[in-house]
Parts: sequence; C-alpha cells; structure tokens
Amino acid sequence: MNDEIRALLIDEKGRLERARSAFRRERPGDVREADTQDVNEAGAEIAEQNEERLLLESLNADLVAVEAALARLLANDYGHCEKCGKPIDEDRLLALPTTRVCLACGDSR
Ligand SMILES: [Zn+2]
Repeated sequence: MNDEIRALLIDEKGRLERARSAFRRERPGDVREADTQDVNEAGAEIAEQNEERLLLESLNADLVAVEAALARLLANDYGHCEKCGKPIDEDRLLALPTTRVCLACGDSR
C-alpha cells in the first residue's frame, strides 16, 4: 500500500513543482512598476498581486505537506493519526495522502 501512496505523492510533488515554475515563468520578477496613476486601477493591481501571492503560498504549502508526507513514509512513520495514534483508513490515505489525522479526528481538508 505504501508504494501506491508513495507514487501518488511523487506525482503530486511533480505537479506542484511544475505549477510553481509555470507560475514563475509567467511572472518574471516580483516587483512591478505601478503603470497607472489611477487610484482604483492601482487598487485592482494590488488586489491581483495579493491573489497571486496567496496562490503561490498555497502551492508552496502543498509542496511542504507532500514533502513531509514523503519523509514520514521514508521514516516508516506514515499512516498513523497524529492525534489519537490509530492507523488512518487506507481509503482516506489514498484520497488525501498528505493527511496527518484520521477521519474521526477529522481535519477539514
Ligand atoms: Zn485520530
């Protein structure tokens, strides 16, 4: 079963890394000159940049979660609930390979 989970996690890691590098390619450089003096347009620009930043942060957070799950697999410390210590249901792991808690202890993901 762990081999299957490992394959899932590696796939997911590759997907996230590709998404992140595509994201960076499309938006070279973090600093953008404000190209307008219009206050409303400048506000929209800032909102858009915040949205991009949040998206990138969520990609990074997902990558960290995937890498942590892979590390737990390697350490043979995978598939046990962080809260109650019971084994996590296999179906749940296959659906949510990065989860750290069982269904009963329920995370919201
Ligand atoms: Zn639990």
